[in-house]
Amino acid sequence: MPNFSLPDAVFERAAAQHPTPFYLYDERGIRQAARALRAAFAWNRGFRQFYAVKALPNPAILRLMLEEGSGLDCSSLTELLLAQKAGAAGRDIMFSANAMPHDELRLAHDLGACINLDDASDVDSLLALGPVPGCLSLRVNPGERGSGHNGFMGGARDAKFGLLPEQLEPALLTLKAGGAQRFGLHAMTASNSLDAAYYPRNAAFLFETGLALEARTGLRLDFVNLSGGLGIPYREEEQALDLARVGEAVRREYERAFGQRADVRIFTELGRLVTGPYGWLVTRAIHRKDTWRAFVGLDASAANLLRPAMYGAWHHVSVSGKRAAPRDQVYDLTGPLCENNDKFAIQRALPEIALDDLVLIHDCGAHAHAMGYQYNGRLRSAELLHTLDGGIRMIRRAETPADYFATLVEG
Ligand SMILES: *Cc1c(COP(=O)(O)O)cnc(C)c1O
Repeated sequence: MPNFSLPDAVFERAAAQHPTPFYLYDERGIRQAARALRAAFAWNRGFRQFYAVKALPNPAILRLMLEEGSGLDCSSLTELLLAQKAGAAGRDIMFSANAMPHDELRLAHDLGACINLDDASDVDSLLALGPVPGCLSLRVNPGERGSGHNGFMGGARDAKFGLLPEQLEPALLTLKAGGAQRFGLHAMTASNSLDAAYYPRNAAFLFETGLALEARTGLRLDFVNLSGGLGIPYREEEQALDLARVGEAVRREYERAFGQRADVRIFTELGRLVTGPYGWLVTRAIHRKDTWRAFVGLDASAANLLRPAMYGAWHHVSVSGKRAAPRDQVYDLTGPLCENNDKFAIQRALPEIALDDLVLIHDCGAHAHAMGYQYNGRLRSAELLHTLDGGIRMIRRAETPADYFATLVEG
């Protein structure tokens, strides 16, 4: 069930202050989600969540995460700079390499970040940068043993991420020769998974693999990074994961693997789970057209929210002020791009939409504004934060044509 925690009056108030389209995020929801995650893993002394910066790369949001005790998971130079801007120290940063340019790895190393390596060649690159970091891990590609493959991360054989299990030991021995004393393991084989068994299965695999490597290499298993991939209920018929239950199931696997031992830390890098339900793309109906179908044109487009056009993602849609109205109309909700896949919903049952109605696209708090682009000269929208005191604060302004022209080289 999508999240209906904010009343329509909040969206109406925001739209009275700012032109549509814009993104609106709810601070309370985001903080509560971060706390629920911490509570679910409070049994693990060293537990830490590293929010996946790519999901909502706005320093105002990243600062909330740091305040809630999360670190930040970065995967590019710019994300490292964003984390710094938000006030993260080196120990607050997890850096996940993936076919990584050398200078990005260097910045992560120099910042003192925890570094997650994706390949044996990354091991050599890291060793060339100087002393091995105290916090480092290898990303595993579990192949057929990967639990929860659901296409987004690739299947067992076409996933581009991680080292094969048999490549881990030589990589660790190279790191040991370079001065490493401990290691972590990381795996992410699913995205947007609502399977309560996904995390515990991933954990069991990583615990077992880590223990075997510890025995063979003499290095100490420091942490297991369960990464991201826990899903949210985009559709009305879907149920949110019971996080407390997921945390307990991981605890059972932990005790099965480690017995009385309690020094192995659990890390997570969740993005969508923490912010996804607490963001909305707020648009206005500006056009109505009846041909083969009834089309309602919105003032936002796939350039603002790519997920439906890119992978057919479903986002719940509601019409402000009409939550209880009968959904007796069927519409395609479109944007203005010259691409027929520029649709937020296809043949969707909705209440009657009048011109100027606010149309709310739900569950846009992760992987939404961040995937925006500028096709057709459509510009990225503003981002607003509904703060704890009920205020509406702009945390990113909308782009203007001057921003679009700023990168051109004249002549
Ligand atoms: C994208 C990503 C995440 C976050 O994924 P969610 O689906 O938002 O939880 C975490 N870790 C890595 C390495 C990622 O690439």
